[in-house]
Amino acid sequence: MAALEEELTCSVCRDSFSQAHPLPCGHSFCPACIREAWIPQEERKGCFTCPQCQEEHGEVLCDCCPLQGEDGPSPMAVKTCLRCEVSLCADHLRPHLERPAFSSHLLVEPLGDLSQRRCPAHLEVFRYYCVDERVYVCGDCLLEGGHTLHKVKPLKKVEEDLKIILQNLLSKAEKKLKEGEKVLKEHENIDSVMADSLKQDNSQVERLDTDLQVQVKRLVLALKEITKKERQQIIERVQQDCVRVKDDMSQTVKIQHYLNLLLAETDPFLLIWAFQSDDTKLLADLNCPLFLPEPICMDRKHIIEDIESKYREFITATLRCLSELKKELCE
Ligand SMILES: [Zn+2]
Ligand SMILES: [Zn+2]
Ligand SMILES: [Zn+2]
Ligand SMILES: [Zn+2]
Ligand SMILES: [Zn+2]
Ligand SMILES: [Zn+2]
Repeated sequence: MAALEEELTCSVCRDSFSQAHPLPCGHSFCPACIREAWIPQEERKGCFTCPQCQEEHGEVLCDCCPLQGEDGPSPMAVKTCLRCEVSLCADHLRPHLERPAFSSHLLVEPLGDLSQRRCPAHLEVFRYYCVDERVYVCGDCLLEGGHTLHKVKPLKKVEEDLKIILQNLLSKAEKKLKEGEKVLKEHENIDSVMADSLKQDNSQVERLDTDLQVQVKRLVLALKEITKKERQQIIERVQQDCVRVKDDMSQTVKIQHYLNLLLAETDPFLLIWAFQSDDTKLLADLNCPLFLPEPICMDRKHIIEDIESKYREFITATLRCLSELKKELCE
């Protein structure tokens, strides 16, 4: 129980975490600290070393150089060969790099303690990985047959496979970054783009102002025309009426004149003859009443119809202006 707890406690930040991530050396780190440790720091030159081991073991010396040479202490190892199970300085490493016989030897960063890389059952260094069980496997484990039905790969092959996967993930990350840059570039000029479109919208809205003013002027003019026309019609009618009254009056003036002549006549024979031959018509003309015009009244009902039709024209034209603006703004 205590061991499990230790395994679930990060060696760096001492946080506990739900999924164990033990390194081959047995130390566990939380995912955040693993990432942190991998980010290259100048003195480590980008090679990952377990932060805990580095603290515990310090530097690894070459196993092939004499422990205390003439030139001082043994040089530092630059690699550890997991096949030969030795750590080598640059000089002693050279055959591993140059001779084909060593090409299958797996070289790793210098390891002070190989015990964690050894199979606890066979004491042989792990050289394989069982993909199905996710465990490291040694050559003797394979001979025992426990993994016969499993997919087992040499560590080098697993490394190659993982690196292909990592390449894919890396190109995904690069694609994502490129996408982000593209999006940012697209929105770089947002200020001037918005200023341009604001200018365009404003000029269209201002044109609405002029258009509506034209419509208002047209309506006012039409309404003035209607009321003026109405009065004009009354004037014409009254003038016609007055002409008829004048006609009646001139007829009566003629009668008045004739009556005055008769009144001045001194010959009774002539007076009687003249009066009797014409009296019926004379009386009829005088009794016919004077033409009286209708009282002046403005036809408000008719004018309201005209005004309403002008209103409708105005509203239709105004709505057309507004919908044109709407169309232009949405384009
Ligand atoms: Zn941590
Ligand atoms: Zn460690
Ligand atoms: Zn050496
Ligand atoms: Zn070797
Ligand atoms: Zn084994
Ligand atoms: Zn297996």
